[in-house]
Amino acid sequence: MLLELEDVKVHYGKVEALKSMSLHVDEGEIVTLVGSNGAGKTTTLKTISGLRPVTSGSVRFDGRAISGLAPHQIVRLGLCQSPEGRGVFPGMTVMENLEMGAYARAGRSRPDLGPDLERVFALFPLLAERRSQPGGTLSGGEQQMLAIGRALMARPRMVLLDEPSMGLAPMLVAQIFEILAEINRQGTTLLLVEQNAAQALRLAHRAYVLETGRVVRSAAAATLLDDESVKSAYLGGDATAGAEADGAPGPPV
Ligand code: ATP
Repeated sequence: MLLELEDVKVHYGKVEALKSMSLHVDEGEIVTLVGSNGAGKTTTLKTISGLRPVTSGSVRFDGRAISGLAPHQIVRLGLCQSPEGRGVFPGMTVMENLEMGAYARAGRSRPDLGPDLERVFALFPLLAERRSQPGGTLSGGEQQMLAIGRALMARPRMVLLDEPSMGLAPMLVAQIFEILAEINRQGTTLLLVEQNAAQALRLAHRAYVLETGRVVRSAAAATLLDDESVKSAYLGGDATAGAEADGAPGPPV
């Protein structure tokens, strides 16, 4: 077991965003979290990457307790997040953004970036073409690729992905998902949150269904993809999955 959350509670002030989150991810897996808006998907990722403190419960990565560690310490253990909203440094070039990812791994020492850059540019040839361009001038899809590429520069064992397809044209979405599959084939474990649940379930090995801050179901992704109650609650037809989920009634607050 590479990552394990056990009975994790997280609060925003008085709001209990995670009530009792328990899940695990094995090395080599792609796992996705499915749930309506406000179910706690983003909070779960932020908690794992050290951006939200836990009120109680434990988060372990590779057998080591990581709740309480600072985000940069968690990155150095090999657990990276590619954040929602992309988080690219707009004034820095593509190359400088990628270098930042590598320094997150190595601290102040100057690592040899060659093999890592080669890997990222092989996955995203477009980034190689745009290497001297400021991050802020890239299109949304390109910025998403840069955010994922930057996370990979840290040579992570596991990457957390929050809405990698957000705001992208369908063709680009398909491309991003193919690249995620390739990254996983190369040995990186992935935990994915996606409003496009159908696509995420097609990519993932396993999935957890979240409701109001806890897991209500866990199964093989293929099983959930075929499940009538999951289909009607979260999928609602492939292309419109995201839109329909947005239109669904919100969770009790
Ligand atoms: P979405 O798809 O809308 O991002 P989600 O499943 O990722 O939903 P979270 O964003 O993790 O859900 O939110 C879980 C709960 O925590 C919700 O009740 C939400 O209102 C609350 N919450 C999230 N962020 C904050 C915040 N910054 N301040 C207060 N409450 C918050």
